Amino acid sequence: MSDIIIIGGGIAGGSLAAAVSADADVVLLEAEDVFGYHATGRSAAMYEPNYGNVVINTLTRASHSAFKEADVLSPRGVLYLADENEQHLMDAIADADFNDRVTLEEALALVPILNLANIRDAVLATAACDLDVDKLFQSRLKIARANGAQLHTKAGVNGIHFDSQWHVRTAVGEFSAPILVNAAGAWADQIAGLAGAKPLGIQPYRRSVARLPAPRGLDVSDWPMLLSAAETWYAKPDAGKWLVSSAEEDPVDPMDAWADDMVLAEGLARYQEFVTEEVTRVESNWAGLRSFAPDRTPVVGFDGVAQGFFWLAGQGGYGVQTSPALSALAADIILGRTPDFDTGIIAALSPSRSM
Ligand SMILES: Cc1cc2nc3c(=O)[nH]c(=O)nc-3n(C[C@H](O)[C@H](O)[C@H](O)COP(=O)(O)OP(=O)(O)OC[C@H]3O[C@@H](n4cnc5c(N)ncnc54)[C@H](O)[C@@H]3O)c2cc1C
Repeated sequence: MSDIIIIGGGIAGGSLAAAVSADADVVLLEAEDVFGYHATGRSAAMYEPNYGNVVINTLTRASHSAFKEADVLSPRGVLYLADENEQHLMDAIADADFNDRVTLEEALALVPILNLANIRDAVLATAACDLDVDKLFQSRLKIARANGAQLHTKAGVNGIHFDSQWHVRTAVGEFSAPILVNAAGAWADQIAGLAGAKPLGIQPYRRSVARLPAPRGLDVSDWPMLLSAAETWYAKPDAGKWLVSSAEEDPVDPMDAWADDMVLAEGLARYQEFVTEEVTRVESNWAGLRSFAPDRTPVVGFDGVAQGFFWLAGQGGYGVQTSPALSALAADIILGRTPDFDTGIIAALSPSRSM
């Protein structure tokens, strides 16, 4: 018997395992052959303190010191761009912390493929960084292992029941503990259903990404990420290549997601309006799922009804950049410690809030 069973071996479950395993016996269960196979392994790997709502901003900024300590941030910047249709959004973007409006000529000096004929406004988000997701994630798993946590892959949970504690059936055996954590990403509502808890409406949305050769063979390594003001596409350097995402939010069932060719082509066409270089070749593509609660704020806390059932889900498009803060908060609640966050944030994340 353990103290805590965590279902889901992505950044959420892995970070929580690291955060609680010094003080509790932990079992981490992952259905796939490897940890981090789903959303965690498919992210854009960005830290952008202005991205998302005000609760997300607080959690992201509170995570900064942990990222510095883990040495996983490197400067990137985000260049927000608007054509005439998106221009009305730019004043708010320019007003946000750490952001500076730049002239179109300054934008072109940063990214020499911009098509200034179609761009009306540009803002540089100076605090945005690349996040080394793999290094962060592996460091969390390493801490959990060193603390004696049991980490299981190929351990898909297919049955859950509760008597005085939780009993979880998997392909690699049965596990029992008084606390069961639902960190199952896109499958969070399905896990709630298996456990007899009320699903919260956590909906996975697909997002597709194409990997292109660097435009004109240029060295793109120092270019900022490009993001349209209304988030209708984005692009960023990646190991000498150029990633372009169609930035779609198409609702889908939980699954091993793949890119939709038509959606990706439409996204590339939107991107194409902002640059002078033709997209001639896509080298590879993929998709991942961003899973949101109805109010687009994560769900962290004990279920209001199901005893010992803890939610760590609905991280949407911010699950990596908020993972240190969310796992620290979850660990504090589970272990009965006083959380570092004010009651407003804790209430905004509670599974009992109205969404
Ligand atoms: C294209 C894209 C770009 C993104 N960019 C960023 C970004 O730049 N910055 C950022 O912070 N975030 C970004 N995100 C979001 C981020 O990737 C997610 O919020 C985060 O990875 C969610 O982590 P998770 O651990 O909750 O989910 P996951 O990584 O999906 O982990 C959940 C795990 O639960 C497992 N599981 C499910 N059911 C069971 C079961 N029955 N038994 C056992 N295991 C089970 C799954 O196999 C899975 O591995 C992006 C996402 C996408 C798709």
